[in-house]
Amino acid sequence: MTLRTISLALALLAPLTIAAQSELTPTQMEARAIFKQLIEINSSYKDGSTTPAAHAMAKRFLDAGFPAADIHVLGPAGDKDSNVVVRMPGTSKTLKPVLLIAHLDVVEALRSDWSVDPYILTERDGFFYGRGTSDIKDGDAILVETLLKLKREHVVPERTIIVALTAGEEGGGGYNGISWLIENHRDLIDAEFCINPDGGDPLLKNGKRIVRPVQASEKLYQSFYLTVTNKGGHSSMPTPDNAIARLAEAIVRVSRFQFPVHLTETTRAYFERSAPLQVGQLAADMHAIASNERDSAAAARLSASPFYNAQLRTTCVPTMLDGGHAPNALPQTARALVNCRILPGETPAQVRAVLVRVVDDDSVRVTPIEDSKPGTASPLMPAIMIPVEKVTARIWPGVPVIPQMETGATDGYRLRDAGIPTYGLSSVFLDVDDVRAHGRDERIMVKSFYEGVDYMYQLVREVAVARP
Ligand SMILES: [Zn+2]
Repeated sequence: MTLRTISLALALLAPLTIAAQSELTPTQMEARAIFKQLIEINSSYKDGSTTPAAHAMAKRFLDAGFPAADIHVLGPAGDKDSNVVVRMPGTSKTLKPVLLIAHLDVVEALRSDWSVDPYILTERDGFFYGRGTSDIKDGDAILVETLLKLKREHVVPERTIIVALTAGEEGGGGYNGISWLIENHRDLIDAEFCINPDGGDPLLKNGKRIVRPVQASEKLYQSFYLTVTNKGGHSSMPTPDNAIARLAEAIVRVSRFQFPVHLTETTRAYFERSAPLQVGQLAADMHAIASNERDSAAAARLSASPFYNAQLRTTCVPTMLDGGHAPNALPQTARALVNCRILPGETPAQVRAVLVRVVDDDSVRVTPIEDSKPGTASPLMPAIMIPVEKVTARIWPGVPVIPQMETGATDGYRLRDAGIPTYGLSSVFLDVDDVRAHGRDERIMVKSFYEGVDYMYQLVREVAVARP
Protein backbone atom coordinates (compact mmCIF):
# COMPACT_ATOMS: atom_id res chain seq x y z
CA MET A 1 0.00 0.00 0.00
CA THR A 2 1.28 3.48 -0.84
CA LEU A 3 1.15 6.27 1.65
CA ARG A 4 -1.71 7.79 -0.29
CA THR A 5 -3.81 4.64 -0.23
CA ILE A 6 -3.06 4.24 3.47
CA SER A 7 -4.32 7.72 4.25
CA LEU A 8 -7.29 7.12 1.99
CA ALA A 9 -8.04 3.93 3.86
CA LEU A 10 -7.65 5.76 7.16
CA ALA A 11 -9.96 8.53 6.00
CA LEU A 12 -12.53 5.90 5.11
CA LEU A 13 -12.00 4.09 8.40
CA ALA A 14 -12.45 7.10 10.64
CA PRO A 15 -16.11 7.80 9.86
CA LEU A 16 -16.80 4.07 10.12
CA THR A 17 -15.47 3.96 13.67
CA ILE A 18 -17.59 6.95 14.64
CA ALA A 19 -20.62 5.40 12.97
CA ALA A 20 -20.05 2.17 14.90
CA GLN A 21 -19.85 4.04 18.19
CA SER A 22 -22.95 6.13 17.51
CA GLU A 23 -24.89 2.90 17.02
CA LEU A 24 -24.35 2.02 20.66
CA THR A 25 -27.36 1.99 22.96
CA PRO A 26 -27.33 4.49 25.86
CA THR A 27 -26.47 1.59 28.19
CA GLN A 28 -23.54 0.51 26.04
CA MET A 29 -22.35 4.09 25.70
CA GLU A 30 -22.39 4.62 29.45
CA ALA A 31 -20.70 1.26 30.11
CA ARG A 32 -17.97 2.20 27.64
CA ALA A 33 -17.49 5.60 29.29
CA ILE A 34 -17.14 4.00 32.74
CA PHE A 35 -14.72 1.41 31.34
CA LYS A 36 -12.64 4.15 29.69
CA GLN A 37 -12.59 6.22 32.86
CA LEU A 38 -11.41 3.25 34.94
CA ILE A 39 -8.72 2.14 32.48
CA GLU A 40 -7.38 5.68 32.37
CA ILE A 41 -6.97 5.89 36.15
CA ASN A 42 -3.73 4.09 36.97
CA SER A 43 -4.65 1.89 39.93
CA SER A 44 -1.47 -0.18 40.08
CA TYR A 45 0.47 0.08 43.32
CA LYS A 46 3.78 1.31 41.98
CA ASP A 47 2.63 4.69 40.62
CA GLY A 48 -1.12 4.55 41.10
CA SER A 49 -3.89 4.09 43.65
CA THR A 50 -7.42 2.73 43.71
CA THR A 51 -8.69 5.82 45.52
CA PRO A 52 -9.37 8.07 42.48
CA ALA A 53 -11.22 5.16 40.84
CA ALA A 54 -13.29 4.59 44.00
CA HIS A 55 -14.22 8.28 44.15
CA ALA A 56 -15.01 8.44 40.42
CA MET A 57 -17.45 5.52 40.76
CA ALA A 58 -18.96 7.00 43.94
CA LYS A 59 -19.62 10.24 42.03
CA ARG A 60 -21.41 8.37 39.24
CA PHE A 61 -23.74 6.74 41.79
CA LEU A 62 -24.36 10.06 43.51
CA ASP A 63 -25.11 11.77 40.18
CA ALA A 64 -27.50 8.95 39.30
CA GLY A 65 -29.54 9.65 42.43
CA PHE A 66 -28.24 7.03 44.86
CA PRO A 67 -28.49 8.53 48.38
CA ALA A 68 -25.10 9.49 49.83
CA ALA A 69 -25.88 7.24 52.81
CA ASP A 70 -25.77 4.20 50.50
CA ILE A 71 -22.36 5.04 49.01
CA HIS A 72 -19.21 4.36 51.02
CA VAL A 73 -15.63 5.11 50.05
CA LEU A 74 -13.50 3.51 52.73
CA GLY A 75 -10.30 1.71 53.62
CA PRO A 76 -7.81 1.28 56.45
CA ALA A 77 -5.33 3.87 55.21
CA GLY A 78 -7.50 7.00 55.15
CA ASP A 79 -7.70 8.09 51.56
CA LYS A 80 -5.02 5.74 50.26
CA ASP A 81 -6.02 2.61 48.32
CA SER A 82 -9.72 2.94 49.07
CA ASN A 83 -12.60 0.61 48.30
CA VAL A 84 -16.10 1.69 47.28
CA VAL A 85 -19.29 -0.03 48.45
CA VAL A 86 -22.73 0.89 47.09
CA ARG A 87 -26.02 -0.54 48.29
CA MET A 88 -29.33 -0.65 46.48
CA PRO A 89 -31.86 -1.60 49.17
CA GLY A 90 -34.41 -4.28 48.39
CA THR A 91 -37.99 -4.59 49.61
CA SER A 92 -37.78 -8.10 51.04
CA LYS A 93 -37.50 -8.57 54.78
CA THR A 94 -36.55 -12.22 54.43
CA LEU A 95 -34.21 -12.45 51.45
CA LYS A 96 -30.58 -11.69 52.25
CA PRO A 97 -28.63 -9.42 49.86
CA VAL A 98 -26.58 -10.44 46.85
CA LEU A 99 -23.03 -9.10 46.79
CA LEU A 100 -21.24 -8.25 43.54
CA ILE A 101 -17.48 -7.77 43.74
CA ALA A 102 -14.56 -6.82 41.49
CA HIS A 103 -11.13 -5.49 42.35
CA LEU A 104 -10.09 -2.00 41.27
CA ASP A 105 -6.33 -2.52 41.43
CA VAL A 106 -4.33 -3.74 38.44
CA VAL A 107 -0.91 -5.24 37.87
CA GLU A 108 1.56 -2.55 36.87
CA ALA A 109 2.11 -2.10 33.10
CA LEU A 110 5.24 -0.68 31.48
CA ARG A 111 4.56 1.65 28.56
CA SER A 112 7.75 0.45 26.85
CA ASP A 113 6.51 -3.18 26.83
CA TRP A 114 3.22 -2.31 25.18
CA SER A 115 2.36 -1.38 21.60
CA VAL A 116 -0.26 1.10 22.91
CA ASP A 117 -0.46 3.21 26.07
CA PRO A 118 -1.68 0.74 28.74
CA TYR A 119 -3.45 3.52 30.63
CA ILE A 120 -5.51 4.74 27.67
CA LEU A 121 -8.51 2.75 26.46
CA THR A 122 -7.75 1.98 22.81
CA GLU A 123 -10.41 0.48 20.56
CA ARG A 124 -8.84 -1.17 17.55
CA ASP A 125 -9.81 -3.98 15.16
CA GLY A 126 -12.64 -5.14 17.36
CA PHE A 127 -10.65 -5.14 20.61
CA PHE A 128 -10.40 -2.90 23.66
CA TYR A 129 -6.76 -2.58 24.74
CA GLY A 130 -5.53 -1.34 28.12
CA ARG A 131 -4.29 -2.53 31.52
CA GLY A 132 -7.26 -4.04 33.30
CA THR A 133 -9.40 -4.60 30.18
CA SER A 134 -9.67 -8.28 31.13
CA ASP A 135 -8.53 -8.21 34.80
CA ILE A 136 -10.90 -6.79 35.88
CA LYS A 137 -11.95 -3.27 35.03
CA ASP A 138 -14.37 -4.71 32.48
CA GLY A 139 -16.06 -6.37 35.47
CA ASP A 140 -15.97 -3.14 37.53
CA ALA A 141 -17.55 -1.16 34.67
CA ILE A 142 -20.18 -3.83 34.03
CA LEU A 143 -21.22 -4.01 37.71
CA VAL A 144 -21.44 -0.21 37.97
CA GLU A 145 -23.49 -0.01 34.77
CA THR A 146 -25.80 -2.79 35.98
CA LEU A 147 -26.73 -0.75 39.03
CA LEU A 148 -27.00 2.55 37.15
CA LYS A 149 -29.29 0.97 34.56
CA LEU A 150 -31.58 -0.51 37.23
CA LYS A 151 -31.74 2.92 38.86
CA ARG A 152 -32.49 4.62 35.53
CA GLU A 153 -35.33 2.18 34.99
CA HIS A 154 -36.70 2.91 38.49
CA VAL A 155 -36.34 -0.74 39.41
CA VAL A 156 -36.67 -1.46 43.12
CA PRO A 157 -35.14 -4.88 43.74
CA GLU A 158 -36.65 -7.44 46.05
CA ARG A 159 -33.22 -8.54 47.25
CA THR A 160 -30.75 -5.83 48.30
CA ILE A 161 -27.94 -5.51 45.75
CA ILE A 162 -24.46 -4.58 47.00
CA VAL A 163 -21.55 -3.67 44.74
CA ALA A 164 -18.07 -3.65 46.33
CA LEU A 165 -15.11 -2.56 44.20
CA THR A 166 -11.98 -3.22 46.16
CA ALA A 167 -8.23 -2.78 46.56
CA GLY A 168 -5.34 -5.15 47.11
CA GLU A 169 -6.32 -8.22 45.09
CA GLU A 170 -3.16 -8.28 42.99
CA GLY A 171 -0.91 -7.84 46.02
CA GLY A 172 1.43 -4.97 46.74
CA GLY A 173 -1.18 -2.73 48.33
CA GLY A 174 -0.34 -3.80 51.86
CA TYR A 175 -3.85 -5.07 52.55
CA ASN A 176 -6.73 -6.81 50.83
CA GLY A 177 -10.00 -4.90 50.43
CA ILE A 178 -12.31 -7.90 50.74
CA SER A 179 -10.63 -9.23 53.90
CA TRP A 180 -10.65 -5.74 55.41
CA LEU A 181 -14.36 -5.25 54.66
CA ILE A 182 -15.17 -8.66 56.15
CA GLU A 183 -13.26 -7.82 59.32
CA ASN A 184 -14.30 -4.19 59.73
CA HIS A 185 -17.59 -3.62 57.89
CA ARG A 186 -19.23 -6.99 57.59
CA ASP A 187 -22.63 -5.27 57.94
CA LEU A 188 -22.03 -3.35 54.68
CA ILE A 189 -21.28 -6.40 52.55
CA ASP A 190 -22.99 -9.30 54.31
CA ALA A 191 -24.93 -11.34 51.78
CA GLU A 192 -26.56 -14.69 51.10
CA PHE A 193 -24.11 -15.19 48.25
CA CYS A 194 -21.69 -13.33 46.04
CA ILE A 195 -21.06 -13.03 42.29
CA ASN A 196 -17.42 -12.40 41.33
CA PRO A 197 -16.64 -11.55 37.68
CA ASP A 198 -12.93 -12.14 38.41
CA GLY A 199 -13.45 -15.89 37.98
CA GLY A 200 -15.38 -18.28 35.75
CA ASP A 201 -14.55 -16.71 32.40
CA PRO A 202 -16.86 -17.84 29.62
CA LEU A 203 -14.61 -19.21 26.88
CA LEU A 204 -14.35 -18.93 23.11
CA LYS A 205 -12.38 -21.31 20.91
CA ASN A 206 -11.87 -20.41 17.24
CA GLY A 207 -14.65 -17.84 17.59
CA LYS A 208 -17.12 -20.39 18.97
CA ARG A 209 -18.62 -20.04 22.47
CA ILE A 210 -17.74 -23.27 24.24
CA VAL A 211 -18.55 -22.92 27.93
CA ARG A 212 -20.22 -20.82 30.64
CA PRO A 213 -18.32 -21.89 33.79
CA VAL A 214 -19.58 -21.27 37.30
CA GLN A 215 -16.52 -21.11 39.51
CA ALA A 216 -17.81 -22.48 42.83
CA SER A 217 -14.56 -23.37 44.53
CA GLU A 218 -10.85 -22.73 44.48
CA LYS A 219 -7.84 -24.70 45.49
CA LEU A 220 -5.88 -23.59 48.51
CA TYR A 221 -2.36 -22.26 47.97
CA GLN A 222 0.16 -23.62 50.45
CA SER A 223 3.91 -24.05 50.15
CA PHE A 224 6.31 -26.08 52.27
CA TYR A 225 10.07 -26.06 52.69
CA LEU A 226 11.92 -29.35 52.65
CA THR A 227 15.15 -28.65 54.51
CA VAL A 228 18.18 -30.82 55.17
CA THR A 229 20.98 -29.57 57.42
CA ASN A 230 24.36 -31.16 57.86
CA LYS A 231 27.53 -30.32 59.78
CA GLY A 232 29.44 -29.87 56.50
CA GLY A 233 33.20 -30.05 56.08
CA HIS A 234 35.89 -29.98 53.41
CA SER A 235 34.77 -31.17 49.97
CA SER A 236 38.04 -33.08 49.53
CA MET A 237 36.83 -35.48 52.21
CA PRO A 238 33.19 -36.28 51.42
CA THR A 239 31.03 -38.16 53.90
CA PRO A 240 28.23 -40.52 52.87
CA ASP A 241 25.68 -38.16 54.37
CA ASN A 242 25.38 -35.18 52.00
CA ALA A 243 22.63 -32.57 52.48
CA ILE A 244 22.14 -31.92 48.76
CA ALA A 245 22.01 -35.59 47.82
CA ARG A 246 19.63 -36.35 50.63
CA LEU A 247 17.33 -33.53 49.63
CA ALA A 248 17.49 -34.62 46.00
CA GLU A 249 16.24 -38.07 46.93
CA ALA A 250 13.38 -36.54 48.91
CA ILE A 251 12.45 -34.33 45.95
CA VAL A 252 12.37 -37.29 43.60
CA ARG A 253 10.04 -39.16 45.95
CA VAL A 254 7.70 -36.16 46.22
CA SER A 255 7.60 -35.58 42.48
CA ARG A 256 6.79 -39.26 41.79
CA PHE A 257 3.95 -39.25 44.28
CA GLN A 258 0.34 -38.63 43.25
CA PHE A 259 -2.26 -37.60 45.79
CA PRO A 260 -5.41 -39.75 45.69
CA VAL A 261 -8.26 -38.74 43.40
CA HIS A 262 -10.98 -36.94 45.26
CA LEU A 263 -14.02 -35.35 43.62
CA THR A 264 -16.04 -32.57 45.24
CA GLU A 265 -19.60 -31.52 44.33
CA THR A 266 -18.08 -28.96 41.94
CA THR A 267 -15.61 -31.22 40.16
CA ARG A 268 -18.04 -34.13 39.92
CA ALA A 269 -20.55 -31.80 38.23
CA TYR A 270 -17.70 -30.51 36.06
CA PHE A 271 -16.84 -33.98 34.70
CA GLU A 272 -20.50 -35.00 34.47
CA ARG A 273 -21.44 -31.96 32.39
CA SER A 274 -18.24 -31.94 30.34
CA ALA A 275 -18.55 -35.59 29.24
CA PRO A 276 -21.35 -35.01 26.68
CA LEU A 277 -19.25 -32.25 25.08
CA GLN A 278 -16.36 -34.64 24.38
CA VAL A 279 -16.08 -37.75 22.23
CA GLY A 280 -14.46 -41.18 22.41
CA GLN A 281 -12.20 -42.20 25.29
CA LEU A 282 -12.14 -38.75 26.90
CA ALA A 283 -15.95 -38.64 27.07
CA ALA A 284 -16.02 -42.17 28.49
CA ASP A 285 -13.35 -41.35 31.10
CA MET A 286 -15.10 -38.18 32.24
CA HIS A 287 -18.33 -40.06 32.59
CA ALA A 288 -16.63 -42.93 34.43
CA ILE A 289 -14.80 -40.75 36.93
CA ALA A 290 -17.94 -38.70 37.68
CA SER A 291 -19.82 -41.85 38.67
CA ASN A 292 -16.91 -43.60 40.40
CA GLU A 293 -13.84 -41.70 41.55
CA ARG A 294 -12.06 -45.02 42.20
CA ASP A 295 -11.96 -45.88 38.50
CA SER A 296 -8.17 -45.83 38.41
CA ALA A 297 -7.84 -46.53 34.67
CA ALA A 298 -10.00 -43.51 33.82
CA ALA A 299 -8.16 -41.40 36.42
CA ALA A 300 -4.78 -42.38 34.98
CA ARG A 301 -5.77 -41.41 31.43
CA LEU A 302 -7.34 -38.12 32.57
CA SER A 303 -4.29 -37.33 34.72
CA ALA A 304 -2.12 -37.22 31.60
CA SER A 305 -3.63 -33.76 31.06
CA PRO A 306 -2.22 -31.28 33.62
CA PHE A 307 -5.58 -29.48 33.60
CA TYR A 308 -7.71 -32.55 34.42
CA ASN A 309 -5.05 -33.82 36.82
CA ALA A 310 -5.34 -30.58 38.81
CA GLN A 311 -9.13 -31.01 38.95
CA LEU A 312 -8.84 -34.57 40.26
CA ARG A 313 -6.48 -34.20 43.19
CA THR A 314 -4.34 -32.08 45.46
CA THR A 315 -0.99 -31.43 43.78
CA CYS A 316 2.45 -30.64 45.22
CA VAL A 317 5.38 -29.74 43.02
CA PRO A 318 8.97 -28.59 43.75
CA THR A 319 9.35 -25.06 42.36
CA MET A 320 12.55 -23.66 43.97
CA LEU A 321 15.84 -25.00 45.16
CA ASP A 322 18.88 -23.73 47.01
CA GLY A 323 21.76 -25.35 48.80
CA GLY A 324 25.45 -25.23 49.64
CA HIS A 325 27.60 -22.19 50.35
CA ALA A 326 30.96 -22.74 48.60
CA PRO A 327 32.27 -24.81 45.68
CA ASN A 328 34.82 -26.52 47.93
CA ALA A 329 32.70 -27.14 51.03
CA LEU A 330 30.27 -29.90 51.93
CA PRO A 331 26.78 -28.37 52.00
CA GLN A 332 25.48 -27.45 55.44
CA THR A 333 22.00 -26.68 54.18
CA ALA A 334 19.90 -27.69 51.22
CA ARG A 335 16.35 -26.51 50.82
CA ALA A 336 13.55 -27.00 48.30
CA LEU A 337 10.26 -25.18 48.07
CA VAL A 338 7.30 -27.42 47.33
CA ASN A 339 4.18 -25.60 46.20
CA CYS A 340 0.88 -27.36 46.90
CA ARG A 341 -2.62 -26.64 45.58
CA ILE A 342 -4.99 -28.27 48.03
CA LEU A 343 -8.54 -29.43 47.31
CA PRO A 344 -11.34 -27.79 49.32
CA GLY A 345 -12.00 -29.91 52.38
CA GLU A 346 -8.39 -31.05 52.82
CA THR A 347 -6.19 -29.24 55.33
CA PRO A 348 -2.57 -28.05 55.05
CA ALA A 349 -1.79 -30.20 58.13
CA GLN A 350 -3.09 -33.32 56.35
CA VAL A 351 -1.05 -32.49 53.27
CA ARG A 352 2.05 -31.95 55.39
CA ALA A 353 1.54 -35.34 57.04
CA VAL A 354 1.36 -36.94 53.57
CA LEU A 355 4.57 -35.19 52.50
CA VAL A 356 6.37 -36.38 55.65
CA ARG A 357 5.27 -39.94 54.91
CA VAL A 358 6.30 -39.70 51.23
CA VAL A 359 9.70 -38.15 52.02
CA ASP A 360 10.24 -40.94 54.53
CA ASP A 361 13.47 -39.49 55.92
CA ASP A 362 13.71 -38.01 59.43
CA SER A 363 16.57 -35.74 58.41
CA VAL A 364 14.32 -33.85 55.97
CA ARG A 365 12.24 -31.25 57.79
CA VAL A 366 8.87 -30.37 56.22
CA THR A 367 7.68 -26.92 57.31
CA PRO A 368 4.71 -24.86 56.07
CA ILE A 369 5.51 -21.40 54.68
CA GLU A 370 2.11 -19.73 54.67
CA ASP A 371 -0.44 -20.14 57.41
CA SER A 372 -3.40 -21.01 55.16
CA LYS A 373 -6.83 -21.98 56.36
CA PRO A 374 -8.50 -24.88 54.56
CA GLY A 375 -10.74 -23.80 51.67
CA THR A 376 -14.46 -24.35 51.40
CA ALA A 377 -16.51 -24.98 48.28
CA SER A 378 -19.73 -23.11 47.60
CA PRO A 379 -22.79 -25.33 47.17
CA LEU A 380 -24.38 -25.25 43.71
CA MET A 381 -27.51 -23.61 45.13
CA PRO A 382 -30.65 -23.07 43.02
CA ALA A 383 -30.78 -19.34 43.91
CA ILE A 384 -27.74 -18.88 41.66
CA MET A 385 -27.74 -21.92 39.32
CA ILE A 386 -31.31 -21.43 38.04
CA PRO A 387 -30.78 -17.75 37.10
CA VAL A 388 -27.46 -18.63 35.43
CA GLU A 389 -29.05 -21.44 33.38
CA LYS A 390 -31.96 -19.19 32.41
CA VAL A 391 -29.96 -16.16 31.32
CA THR A 392 -27.37 -18.29 29.52
CA ALA A 393 -30.09 -20.09 27.54
CA ARG A 394 -31.63 -16.72 26.68
CA ILE A 395 -28.47 -14.88 25.57
CA TRP A 396 -26.13 -17.72 24.56
CA PRO A 397 -28.45 -20.60 23.67
CA GLY A 398 -26.69 -23.96 23.54
CA VAL A 399 -23.67 -22.88 25.59
CA PRO A 400 -23.27 -25.39 28.45
CA VAL A 401 -23.20 -24.18 32.07
CA ILE A 402 -20.41 -26.06 33.83
CA PRO A 403 -19.40 -25.79 37.50
CA GLN A 404 -15.69 -25.30 37.96
CA MET A 405 -12.99 -25.47 40.60
CA GLU A 406 -10.31 -22.87 39.98
CA THR A 407 -6.78 -24.12 40.50
CA GLY A 408 -5.47 -20.56 40.98
CA ALA A 409 -7.02 -18.10 43.41
CA THR A 410 -9.25 -15.01 43.46
CA ASP A 411 -10.81 -12.92 46.24
CA GLY A 412 -13.65 -15.45 46.22
CA TYR A 413 -11.98 -17.75 48.75
CA ARG A 414 -11.89 -14.96 51.35
CA LEU A 415 -15.67 -14.64 51.20
CA ARG A 416 -16.19 -18.41 51.17
CA ASP A 417 -14.00 -18.63 54.28
CA ALA A 418 -16.23 -15.99 55.88
CA GLY A 419 -19.32 -18.08 55.14
CA ILE A 420 -20.55 -16.19 52.04
CA PRO A 421 -20.85 -18.66 49.13
CA THR A 422 -19.16 -17.09 46.11
CA TYR A 423 -19.50 -17.82 42.42
CA GLY A 424 -16.95 -16.75 39.81
CA LEU A 425 -19.21 -15.62 36.97
CA SER A 426 -17.49 -13.36 34.49
CA SER A 427 -19.86 -12.26 31.73
CA VAL A 428 -17.12 -11.41 29.20
CA PHE A 429 -16.05 -14.15 26.80
CA LEU A 430 -12.31 -14.75 26.59
CA ASP A 431 -10.56 -16.55 23.76
CA VAL A 432 -8.77 -19.58 25.28
CA ASP A 433 -5.89 -18.95 22.90
CA ASP A 434 -5.59 -15.25 23.71
CA VAL A 435 -5.41 -14.79 27.49
CA ARG A 436 -3.37 -11.70 28.32
CA ALA A 437 -4.27 -10.80 31.92
CA HIS A 438 -1.18 -9.42 33.73
CA GLY A 439 0.67 -9.42 30.37
CA ARG A 440 1.41 -6.97 27.58
CA ASP A 441 -1.27 -5.59 25.27
CA GLU A 442 -4.05 -6.90 27.51
CA ARG A 443 -7.32 -6.86 25.59
CA ILE A 444 -10.88 -8.11 25.28
CA MET A 445 -13.21 -8.22 22.31
CA VAL A 446 -15.44 -5.15 22.01
CA LYS A 447 -18.42 -7.34 21.16
CA SER A 448 -17.81 -9.55 24.21
CA PHE A 449 -17.73 -6.49 26.48
CA TYR A 450 -21.16 -5.28 25.34
CA GLU A 451 -22.58 -8.81 25.56
CA GLY A 452 -21.15 -8.94 29.07
CA VAL A 453 -22.97 -5.74 30.02
CA ASP A 454 -26.26 -7.27 28.92
CA TYR A 455 -25.61 -10.68 30.52
CA MET A 456 -24.73 -9.29 33.94
CA TYR A 457 -27.70 -6.92 33.95
CA GLN A 458 -30.07 -9.80 33.15
CA LEU A 459 -28.40 -12.12 35.67
CA VAL A 460 -28.65 -9.56 38.47
CA ARG A 461 -32.30 -8.95 37.57
CA GLU A 462 -33.02 -12.68 37.76
CA VAL A 463 -31.26 -12.97 41.09
CA ALA A 464 -32.56 -9.85 42.81
CA VAL A 465 -35.66 -8.46 41.13
CA ALA A 466 -39.03 -10.10 41.63
CA ARG A 467 -41.14 -10.72 38.58
CA PRO A 468 -44.71 -9.36 38.47
ZN1 LIG B 1 -8.19 -10.26 38.90
